[in-house]
Amino acid sequence: MSKPRLDGKVAIVTGGASGIGEAMARLFAASGATVVIADIQDALGEAVAASIGPPCTYTRCDVTDEAQVEATVAAAVAAHGRLDVMLSNAGVLLLTGSVTDMDLSALDRVMAVNFRGAAACVKHAARAMVSAGTRGAIVCTGSVACVQGGYGPASYTASKHALLGLVRAAAGELGRHGVRVNLVSPGGVATPLSMAVAGMGAQEIEASTEAHSVLRGKVLRAADVAEAALFLASDQAGFVSGHNLIVDGATTAVNPAVM
Ligand code: NAD
Repeated sequence: MSKPRLDGKVAIVTGGASGIGEAMARLFAASGATVVIADIQDALGEAVAASIGPPCTYTRCDVTDEAQVEATVAAAVAAHGRLDVMLSNAGVLLLTGSVTDMDLSALDRVMAVNFRGAAACVKHAARAMVSAGTRGAIVCTGSVACVQGGYGPASYTASKHALLGLVRAAAGELGRHGVRVNLVSPGGVATPLSMAVAGMGAQEIEASTEAHSVLRGKVLRAADVAEAALFLASDQAGFVSGHNLIVDGATTAVNPAVM
């Protein structure tokens, strides 16, 4: 089977300065797309865009500010003439405590990025695609926490369950416009996010994920998640919408949550 290609297509990746989003930016650019990296870590984002090379660019965009999301989409369309793919990937995991001690202000911050920020990305990407008649693809980065509790604090799990609902509803509404909306949902990947939260190095995270996985002989890396997102974004997934593509080596299929 040939690898999916995105030649001539324009993609925005939020949270593209680091981790899974960076892997998506690199793979999508290598697959022919013009990539706009949108993040709040300016130095990192600029460096990733520079190392990918033109036409990849970086733009500052805090997804918790709807006006910045709208402006980022408008600027991408103005610069490149179209928007084909929105990778709504920016996310945070804050240690908001157990349910009985939950820090509700921190819960608001998690929801503001992981759910409300994604909603802004879906909204403004869909508007641009629908108004231009583009059969676009929106891929949100979910998590195994979309479908099970126990993979982090309740705030994170709740934000990712809400995101799953948003994607399903959006897929239902946007299908008549030919716009597809899906999730890619990884298990544990060694990134700055997971390493900071777990207080572990990359090798420890990878060993832990492998130990809890049922799929032996393979370590889950950010690039694997990017490959799944590339499929969802490509024409090869032309009839796939409202789907949650879990990339966890069958862990949630057979095991209870592990944290
Ligand atoms: P990461 O910290 O390496 O990258 C997240 C990026 O999002 C960072 O560059 C950060 O600056 C950006 N970001 C945060 N808040 C933002 C905001 N308000 N506006 C714009 N950008 C913002 O983490 P990661 O592990 O690559 O996480 C990417 C996505 O993958 C997240 O949605 C996360 O929930 C999800 N995820 C990660 C794992 C894992 O184990 N690492 C597992 C499942 C799901």
